[in-house]
Amino acid sequence: MSVVPKHEFMASAIVYPASTAEVQTIVVWANKHTIPIFPISMGRNLGYGGAAPRVRGSVVLDLGRRMNKILDIDPEDYTCLLEPGVSCYALYEEVQRRGYTHMWIDTPDLGGGSVVGNTLDRGVGYTPYGDHWAAHSGLEVVLPTGEVIRTGMGALPGSNTWQTFPYGFGPYSDGLFSQSNFGIVTKLGMTLMPAPPDHESFMYTFEREDDLAQIIEIIRPLRIGNILENVAQLRSAVQTLAVSGRPKSDFYKGSGRIPKDVVEAECAKLPIGKCEWIYYGMSYGPKHIRQYKLDTIDTEFKKVSGARRIDPATIPKDNYFWSRDKIAAGEPDLEELLWCNWVLNGSHIAFSPVSPIRGKDATALLEITNKHQDRQGVEIFPAFVVGLREMHLIVECVFDKHSPSACEAALASMRGMVDDAAKSGYGEYRTHLALMDQVAGTYNWNDNALMKFHERLKDALDPNGILAPGKSGVWPSSFAAGRLLS
Ligand code: ADP
Repeated sequence: MSVVPKHEFMASAIVYPASTAEVQTIVVWANKHTIPIFPISMGRNLGYGGAAPRVRGSVVLDLGRRMNKILDIDPEDYTCLLEPGVSCYALYEEVQRRGYTHMWIDTPDLGGGSVVGNTLDRGVGYTPYGDHWAAHSGLEVVLPTGEVIRTGMGALPGSNTWQTFPYGFGPYSDGLFSQSNFGIVTKLGMTLMPAPPDHESFMYTFEREDDLAQIIEIIRPLRIGNILENVAQLRSAVQTLAVSGRPKSDFYKGSGRIPKDVVEAECAKLPIGKCEWIYYGMSYGPKHIRQYKLDTIDTEFKKVSGARRIDPATIPKDNYFWSRDKIAAGEPDLEELLWCNWVLNGSHIAFSPVSPIRGKDATALLEITNKHQDRQGVEIFPAFVVGLREMHLIVECVFDKHSPSACEAALASMRGMVDDAAKSGYGEYRTHLALMDQVAGTYNWNDNALMKFHERLKDALDPNGILAPGKSGVWPSSFAAGRLLS
């Protein structure tokens, strides 16, 4: 999945600790020899750097290989305690195996990754528990100097509320360990969702690209009011064509963006029909509760002229709609990755800005992405992922990883989007290793005050600068001259 020449993010060795004590031993060793180490849980951070370290030559700590135990699932509190190697699939299967049909897990678009890794990188899923960071409770962390701490109630010996009350007493330190290089998380508590009595996926299609602003304005009050109950997706028609797994060349042989009339003609052959945007959502609860919400949603979406609700009964079982249906019900899936086939040797990198749920912001961000798509001649799929009071625009750029010029164009398009977005006040929620310095540089209010604070913490907690230097743009002072990529 490398967008830069492979040697730039190359590890010198990989180690597989089996316990917190072994992680401590490695940390002590790294301090003794001043070797940078880089922890991963399972390294499935696709689009953001995968299993690679930020600094070339780092020793990667692959925690997931041997620290992969589900330490606890509590069927009464609806919580679990996990090691870094527990994937969404493993957690889902264990919940099923134990017969806990009253509980759901939450999974991101790709279920193959680690629950701990995704939560620490603040990934999202698609049930009402989709904000993984908000749903976690309690961490065990090995600090860069080798001590172990437990956060929240975990600091109180004998406490039985580590997974039910995240805050404990005193400063709430958990945030310091997400998207950070201040510690290695060896255990994470997670809350689980009560399985609703019933649930039902729905899909709407919209005919014109210009409908975007109106759709987003409709979504905002419905989402904040919890009529739209899950982190929902508004996707481009091109992405829906691509997730069939067929390459672009099946549809269009020319260069540049696939023409609108081709997209429309191809969509017309699918259950979605001729359209530009597709909304995927799910309603939860018994029929009479769902009906009120679904009727409201229908009335609101149909205010967009040409909006159509696609009856799920008409959608074949192999259609992508059913993949979204599984994910919104907490069942892991991998179908999403099929859009990598859009180009030969397809790999991908994402531009992921955050904005208010407003039509004008959606339009402004789409203009930025379209501009850089056309400038660099790259293939992109924009999808608006609506949280509660903000939305992430996830722009996946798919490129031929064996073509140096395609990799360069993909990276240049990302850099252009990040810069232009920042000029308009938009920042990314997460980014690829290659873009971390650039993105961190955009969060520069008051003469980089936040970064200066992070750097002070970094130097205090990690005096030798051995833990994931450069992660999220935070460099220890020992690396000040070592900013390899800017
Ligand atoms: P996933 O397999 O779920 O995609 P990764 O293991 O790739 O997750 O983790 C994503 C990123 O989060 C990693 O690149 C790393 O920077 C950070 N990370 C993952 N696991 C840990 C951990 N246990 N402790 C500290 N940071 C971690």
